[in-house]
Amino acid sequence: MNVYTFAIQNKNNMAAITREYATEMKYRILGFNDDQCSCDVCGKQELKGTYAMEDLSTGEIFRAGSVCGSKMAGWTTKELVAKYKVGEKEKLDAAKKELRESAEYIADEKALEFLNKEEDEINRQIFATDNQQKRTELHNTKRTIQSRMDYLMPSHIALTQKRKEISEKYGQKYL
Ligand SMILES: [Zn+2]
Repeated sequence: MNVYTFAIQNKNNMAAITREYATEMKYRILGFNDDQCSCDVCGKQELKGTYAMEDLSTGEIFRAGSVCGSKMAGWTTKELVAKYKVGEKEKLDAAKKELRESAEYIADEKALEFLNKEEDEINRQIFATDNQQKRTELHNTKRTIQSRMDYLMPSHIALTQKRKEISEKYGQKYL
């Protein structure tokens, strides 16, 4: 490689890097869904869905099909889809993390843990005695399935509500 071709290549690389940097910074994919099936850019109708994209320099949010969306951002459609998938994965991970760290999730875990410990303790006492009547009595103190369900119900309801709330916040259908 002579100095000239190196200079050309380097110039092209820099141009590519600058272009990539500029487009990376200029647009952000917020999501994809079929709430709107027409492209704001070209007006094309009956798309399967559109990408919600944010112009980071103006804060403007618009909906575009994959062709227009990628053209505007300077990506290939493949890159657009890849960026969308990475974004979705990040959102899902963030949603899961927020759910796991929520008071509702922790309370639900604790409720189940409490029931398991309670039963373990009764089993331990049953195991520790040879008296058949005492064993039967202990056995009868165990919760019924209904009692377990009743105990868990409030935290389950709270957790379901929290799951719904976080799903909506992160635009995730399944969490
Ligand atoms: Zn379009």
